[in-house]
Amino acid sequence: MSDMMNSKNSNETETSKVKKKVSFHTLGCRLNFSETGSISQGFADRGYEIVDFGEPSDVTFINTCTVTDSADSTCRNLIRKAYKASPEGRIVVAGCYAQMDAPRISKMTGVDLVLGTTEKYKVFEYLEEDEADAIHIDKSADFYGAATSVSEGHTRAFLKIQDGCNYVCSFCIIPFARGRSKAISVDQALKEAQSIVDAGFKEIILTGVNIGEYETTSGEKLTDLVKAVLNIDGLERLRLSSVEPNTITDELLEVLKSSPKFLDHFHIPLQSGNDEILTAMKRKYRVDDYKKVIDKIIKFFPEAGIGADVICGFPGETEEQFMDTYNLMRDLPLTHFHVFPYSKRKNTVASRMEDHIQHPQKKARVKSLIALGEAKLRMFSEDQVGTQSEVLFERRNKKGLWEGYTTNFVRVNVDSSEDLKNQVRTVYINSFENNRLQADLLQ
Ligand code: SF4
Repeated sequence: MSDMMNSKNSNETETSKVKKKVSFHTLGCRLNFSETGSISQGFADRGYEIVDFGEPSDVTFINTCTVTDSADSTCRNLIRKAYKASPEGRIVVAGCYAQMDAPRISKMTGVDLVLGTTEKYKVFEYLEEDEADAIHIDKSADFYGAATSVSEGHTRAFLKIQDGCNYVCSFCIIPFARGRSKAISVDQALKEAQSIVDAGFKEIILTGVNIGEYETTSGEKLTDLVKAVLNIDGLERLRLSSVEPNTITDELLEVLKSSPKFLDHFHIPLQSGNDEILTAMKRKYRVDDYKKVIDKIIKFFPEAGIGADVICGFPGETEEQFMDTYNLMRDLPLTHFHVFPYSKRKNTVASRMEDHIQHPQKKARVKSLIALGEAKLRMFSEDQVGTQSEVLFERRNKKGLWEGYTTNFVRVNVDSSEDLKNQVRTVYINSFENNRLQADLLQ
């Protein structure tokens, strides 16, 4: 017996000796996280051990973002950090920033491979080629199927249904980095969704760059996809990631409302509350259209949590125009603010505009909107005290309390000796303390 154990142990030791290590760092949007999830699964399937970023590893994979200047410089810092941790390892830099600035990235010490937004899925082939300092960027870029990943708490899964964007918002570099809109078929999305559910996930978030523009080559629309996914047995909860306001239709809201699986939580980018700025941004709606969309959502989902992206300090934005945004966000039932200072992106129309706003002014505007957003989220949370919600529990926190989100996306803590991980339970919300809802289990 002990010999058998010894031989097993020595085999294990040998296996672990030869097992290669890979670490990941992801910047940017949920879509990027979803894609890293899919790629990390590919490494795991090939026998790699996944270790934390910053630990010595044979391969470090950095999935980048280029939405702002600071995302670019964070990426370069991460490359330096990865090289310091593993000077002998191979560093792969992939994604949107890699697509846009490959020559500069490839010159950085330690970088072996620079892969664009679609080439990143071929990382395994490129690693085998063993070609130092290789750049692989494909501008014609086909869509690389659905990619799923698991949230931090391993209870929610992101399903990528669309990539790229056909809009030309004047500040945005994404269409350059990810190309034109492409979608996976409803059939393919259903297969992916089914395998996510079969793996034990209760909640799926449909994600993409501009999912409101989801349309397959055979003409299937987002409503067709949502209807089909909502019918999957075993799926308990569905959310949509960011949806452009001009793509929210009555038909879509009716489909979402038709199933209790769809949660009352939306993310509708605003960007500015002033029509002149929206025009200069080349957005496809004006303030009145946005208000109507939010009103409509509230009619269908009265308790909805609604997130909104906003940009402060777009070129030429006056104090009055900024205050239009501030007042609109104060008055509309928006609950989760995502506030960004305008960031100049090379080759975009906005980068060539005059009257760029000074950094301190942008910073002050960002600060005041963040403060407003925090106050509104606090009020929204307090309003939920004394109500019930269905919560999907994700993990126990450091204080030993179970954490999860209400249907309308507010964090909840529950004190329970039960193992609640990955369970959807009804709770009664007692109070709002330390920036968290505190609740009791009802069943
Ligand atoms: S909708 Fe506008 S902001 Fe969003 S990805 Fe497309 S171009 Fe960029």
